[in-house]
Amino acid sequence: MANPLDVVDVTRRLIAFETINPPGSERPCAEYLRALLEDAGFHTEPHDLAPGRASLVARLGDGSGDPLCFTGHIDTVPLGERAWTRDPFGGEIADGRLYGRGATDMKGGVAAVVCACVAQADRLRDGPGVVLVITAGEETGCDGAAALVRDSRLGRAGAMVVAEPTANAPYVGHKGALWLKARTRGVTAHGSMPEHGDNAVHKAARAITRLADFDFNVKGHPVLGKPTLNIGTVRGGINVNSVPDHAEIGIDIRTVPGMTHAALRESLARSMGEGAELDVTVDLDGVWTEPDSPWIAAAAARAGSVSGHPPVPATATYFTDASVLTPAYGGIPTLILGPGEPSMAHQTDEYCLIDRLTEAVSIYGALIDDWHTGDWTVRAYSKSRAI
Ligand SMILES: [Zn+2]
Repeated sequence: MANPLDVVDVTRRLIAFETINPPGSERPCAEYLRALLEDAGFHTEPHDLAPGRASLVARLGDGSGDPLCFTGHIDTVPLGERAWTRDPFGGEIADGRLYGRGATDMKGGVAAVVCACVAQADRLRDGPGVVLVITAGEETGCDGAAALVRDSRLGRAGAMVVAEPTANAPYVGHKGALWLKARTRGVTAHGSMPEHGDNAVHKAARAITRLADFDFNVKGHPVLGKPTLNIGTVRGGINVNSVPDHAEIGIDIRTVPGMTHAALRESLARSMGEGAELDVTVDLDGVWTEPDSPWIAAAAARAGSVSGHPPVPATATYFTDASVLTPAYGGIPTLILGPGEPSMAHQTDEYCLIDRLTEAVSIYGALIDDWHTGDWTVRAYSKSRAI
């Protein structure tokens, strides 16, 4: 019998590893989790993303069916400009809250997954089991997950739980993200003789004006709504008395499932006109599983029986590693459900509720239980192919 782990203790230990991304430095955190999982009999494979940076894939099962996948990332965003009133790496506890950078997004979720799986290790050995995909580099665009896919480290899975913050409510999807950098170029000249130059900022301004009227020409999604476009940054020029020869526009587009990012990019390039070069900085597809697909419906109901949340599937405003992992696993049913508070992600004095952590361990335990007794390994997967 594996020693049961305490989810609060594991979350506090994860918070103590400084994994702010950039630069990341996730390796010691991944090694700590690797040791816990190895002790419980899991087969573990660390995967290098860069020097000092590692993701981790851990498996337990007899290969008799597709395992249930749990995923979470161990990098965090920076601390932000505002001063914290709590130690961001101290794991302080007060009034039922556990504070720290990553408490909500999403070291609490990773800790709950690991604790639930270790608690069930003895029974996971006989049956389809689980695969844990613990990633580095999620916050900057799912880099760790993409590297695992590129190097074929995922194996198979029949359904997936993403432990991102939902306050343990079931979410069934999120929009995709296409971030672009548009560049315009010109010719510099003295600011007193602009007729000798070619002003790159004027070209950028014309491109921005055209984008303001951009028509996605799609109907939208019944739950996720319409795609959006935001111009987040504009940079151009070095000094006021020179004609700028370079300008850059940062564009954040959120797409809905069914849109093709390559086609969208072409349409944007046409709309911006000649002279604007487009580079892609983030390209992540949206995620959506029909709420009434068999495993999702059963898992949401099961989670609700533990948490008291009605199983009304919602969607996330953020993107997750599922953008990369779900298609890599062949479009498997994907449930986003984790103990963090969605409103606390990336915030100063980030915290998660201790009750939610223990509740998530119970929910994940129940989902593992159902996976082993309910023959979902076949049904969930065949349904996913049909979506
Ligand atoms: Zn996250």
